[in-house]
Amino acid sequence: MDSNADAVVIGGGIFGASAAHFLAKKGFGNIVLLEKRSLAAVSTGHSAANVRTYYSNPMTVQLAWKAVQMFERSEELLGGDCGFDQIGFLLLIDEENRIPGKHILEMESSNGVEVKDMSVEDLKELAPDMNTEGLIGGIYEVRSGYADPIKTTKSLAYKAKDWGLKVYEGVEATGISLEGDRVTGVSTSDGFISTPVVINAAGPWGNQVGSWVGLNHSIRWSRETDMAVHLPPNFGRMPVVSDPSLVFYYRPQGQGELVAGLGFPKEIEPVDINSYDETLDPDSRHRIERKLFERLPVLKDAKYSHGWASLYTISDDWHPLVGKEDGLQGYYSCFAGSGHCFKLGPPIGEALADMIMGQDTSIDITALRPSRFKEGEPMTSAWGGGNRA
Ligand SMILES: Cc1cc2nc3c(=O)[nH]c(=O)nc-3n(C[C@H](O)[C@H](O)[C@H](O)COP(=O)(O)OP(=O)(O)OC[C@H]3O[C@@H](n4cnc5c(N)ncnc54)[C@H](O)[C@@H]3O)c2cc1C
Repeated sequence: MDSNADAVVIGGGIFGASAAHFLAKKGFGNIVLLEKRSLAAVSTGHSAANVRTYYSNPMTVQLAWKAVQMFERSEELLGGDCGFDQIGFLLLIDEENRIPGKHILEMESSNGVEVKDMSVEDLKELAPDMNTEGLIGGIYEVRSGYADPIKTTKSLAYKAKDWGLKVYEGVEATGISLEGDRVTGVSTSDGFISTPVVINAAGPWGNQVGSWVGLNHSIRWSRETDMAVHLPPNFGRMPVVSDPSLVFYYRPQGQGELVAGLGFPKEIEPVDINSYDETLDPDSRHRIERKLFERLPVLKDAKYSHGWASLYTISDDWHPLVGKEDGLQGYYSCFAGSGHCFKLGPPIGEALADMIMGQDTSIDITALRPSRFKEGEPMTSAWGGGNRA
């Protein structure tokens, strides 16, 4: 274990791997990434990893659009193959969602995203097995898709070893030392590292790490489930689909499977983050299947493959806490990714690295500063709370 570093990143999910990658790439010096389990072991590795751009505020749209372009060129920009399957993303629109849908279409177009306004006939052509009853059309993001979250995290972390990043898996951060208001080091299960810069990317444990420097953000956690079914051999093509009408989403997984999960708004499912059921429970499976069979009746006899549960770490406005913490020198938060920060991990990690290095960011992310709630400036969403942000 190194005894000195220019920066220590706590947490090897998408946020920690991205921040560490870009700090190392930009030449910040010796960077250490600590992960108490293995890379992408918690929320990131269980993410549906949909990479799409429909959000209701310009900053998130710009970050997501940048993410699409990073995933398109992942070998060059994210360190390797991220398993990006660029099959497009379709947001289904019913009468109730006509107005927010129009807003989203305008928002995406005005931020340069390639989107198409789809009629019901277009939907039938794009996704022939879909039951379009109750729909009035859709919004199609041509360049979106989904990625492999574990490959992505590993590509970011392992490529950065070429620029001096040290990645320690199975090593837990256990404390942070301060001299006055200045960070001086991190205690770990494998010794002490002197450092002037710490990034808290501990995901669900972000508040635990923050408590070591006297912070306590308002955070909730929710247990979130996904399931996969085997596709019948004659199943037609489909993009990633978000269905606000039935409140769920689905997408293909490689050639032979489909992954589906519940959408928002829904009740969050409070959870003990240190001990929870990581399997798909029968009730969630039943709820997902009911929606799936309604939208895709041809799947009624499809064979169940597997399911899982993991964690959302949710801030009060459903946007992550990113940036320097007031009153502390050298301490940065980067957690509470809620339900949409797999895709935003790389652009946010890059912007945070720029901020730490005192450089301009290509997208201004100061709206995500952790002090925004105290200052009465939370983010807002046309859709209300939830992962549609
Ligand atoms: C079921 C599900 C579906 C999702 N679908 C999507 C989607 O389609 N698209 C999308 O963009 N987002 C999606 N998300 C959200 C996305 O996955 C999360 O926002 C993102 O992965 C959060 O990343 P993170 O790095 O903050 O957290 P995590 O991946 O949880 O990483 C935090 C890491 O910190 C480590 N750690 C904690 N404490 C310490 C310590 N003291 N020392 C060392 N290591 C520590 C943990 O072990 C963990 O590995 C989904 C999430 C879930 C659960």
